Amino acid sequence: MRSSCVLDGDIGLEQSPSSSMIYFDNQATTPLDPRVFEAMKPALVGHAFGNPSSTHSLGVLASRLLEEARNGLSSLCPPYPRQVVFTSGATEANALSVLGAAPRGKRRHVVISGIEHPSVLECAKELEHRGCHLTVVRPDDQGMLCVDEVVDAVAEQTALLAVMLVNNEVGVLQPAGEICQRVRMKWPLCHLHVDAVQAVGMVDLSGLEAASSISISAHKIHGPRGIGALLLRQNTKLRPLWYGGGQERGMRAGTENVAGAIGLARAAELSIENWQGRAARMVALRDELVDELVQAIEHTRLIGHPKHRSPANAAIAFAGITGDALMGALEQKGIIVSTGAACHSGRSRPSHVLLAMGLRDPGGIVRFGLSRLTTQEEVRAVIAATTDAVTQLRSR
Ligand code: PMP
Repeated sequence: MRSSCVLDGDIGLEQSPSSSMIYFDNQATTPLDPRVFEAMKPALVGHAFGNPSSTHSLGVLASRLLEEARNGLSSLCPPYPRQVVFTSGATEANALSVLGAAPRGKRRHVVISGIEHPSVLECAKELEHRGCHLTVVRPDDQGMLCVDEVVDAVAEQTALLAVMLVNNEVGVLQPAGEICQRVRMKWPLCHLHVDAVQAVGMVDLSGLEAASSISISAHKIHGPRGIGALLLRQNTKLRPLWYGGGQERGMRAGTENVAGAIGLARAAELSIENWQGRAARMVALRDELVDELVQAIEHTRLIGHPKHRSPANAAIAFAGITGDALMGALEQKGIIVSTGAACHSGRSRPSHVLLAMGLRDPGGIVRFGLSRLTTQEEVRAVIAATTDAVTQLRSR
């Protein structure tokens, strides 16, 4: 990164992945915050390497650090404290919630939104193969779900509703809190799952009171890869995905990743500390990027709702070129972006999110993914490089 190599104490990162690169793919992953790494060190290379299940002093120490990390995360979203189940990431947390909650007895109906991450979508399809009835609710052409439509899709037989808070591809912020509240009032037995992976540190999490489970992932918030968590309402029981040593209250067997858990808790703590100020700064940068690109380049538009969206996401469609071509041209100029979700990149047909929004031929889409490290200098460099690259690609 050019300007964000030297960073202030608030941000905390001293070194970025490459000093000559501008990194704008922060919805795919984020660089590790050195303060997170420092917190993890004792459990990685220090005295706290023990197995938390061991009863000797090393095990007791590891167990204490694990529980401290758990306690830290238990107050991320209301109702406090939430029960924390550590997982290998949000893919597993989503699978545990979806496959672990449905079917329930005779309740074999599942409702999800059409823009869920594949880790929710594919688990819901698996439930369909196992005999559940699946309802998929589509958003409007701005990627927004209609609260009434989702609430009306849930019925007495519904075991599970899954709706994400911030979409990873187009960044649209969903009324997940209101949906959960209304469904809980009407159908208190329905398990309500919210994927909040792209929301931590970006938007208000306080409205998720009614959600039964919330999934988060460390590597989206400057934490390490390979660790996530499911934040459950107290006394929520889920069927485990596999069986073994009974760790994580029997919901996730396997020796715990203590260093990862510490890293996730520290990354979450740093992400939500004064998050409003940072988010407001990112909104201003995001809007500058969008406004300047749309004004400077003909036949260019923002995908998804202009206001109800993550401060970090600007998904922009450029007519007449492909997203891959623009991504490649920008990389040659030292700028890293993506053509959509990392898990969809490389596909030539529109993603399930764009199709659900009714966008069959939107043009080449590039996702510009900002982070709390993004500077105005970087945004201006990206605007100039993109304008240049699109002009060149269109003139070919
Ligand atoms: N949900 C969303 C919204 C995501 O963006 C991602 C990561 N792309 C996941 C779930 C899966 O997270 P992880 O990489 O931790 O498995």
